[in-house]
Amino acid sequence: MASIFSKIIAGDIPCYKVAEDDRFFAFLDINPLAKGHTLVVPKKEVDYIFDLDDDTLREMSVFAKKVASRIKEWSGCRKVAVVVLGLEVAHAHIHLIPINSESDVDFRKEKLKLTPDEFEKIASRLRG
Ligand code: AMP
Repeated sequence: MASIFSKIIAGDIPCYKVAEDDRFFAFLDINPLAKGHTLVVPKKEVDYIFDLDDDTLREMSVFAKKVASRIKEWSGCRKVAVVVLGLEVAHAHIHLIPINSESDVDFRKEKLKLTPDEFEKIASRLRG
């Protein structure tokens, strides 16, 4: 069965899309730690990130770098944190989280509640 992220990539489940090319897809995390918290996923469905073939892993980093630079420019954050958990969704993905301090990347924190309008505005700014 297709993962929830494959369904998002196929357009069967809605998302706030940030970027896409032929191999990768980026969209806002629906439970963000910060405004601009984005997920980068390979279109190829593989559960564990280090089971991706070397070329896909390399290219995914380069794709994430482009998205991170837009997040940094838009948010004015100090850095964009790169986090890989993958405990909830079995489709490899990188979290890109704008941060100003270490505590901004604490996944135990309560997540932001944003309206659909707020999500869409952020996604459209990040799409450029
Ligand atoms: P993890 O697999 O532990 O890295 O966590 C999965 C992440 O995907 C969580 O931060 C969720 O909020 C996020 N997520 C799950 N479903 C969706 C969705 N439909 N749209 C956007 N983000 C999602």
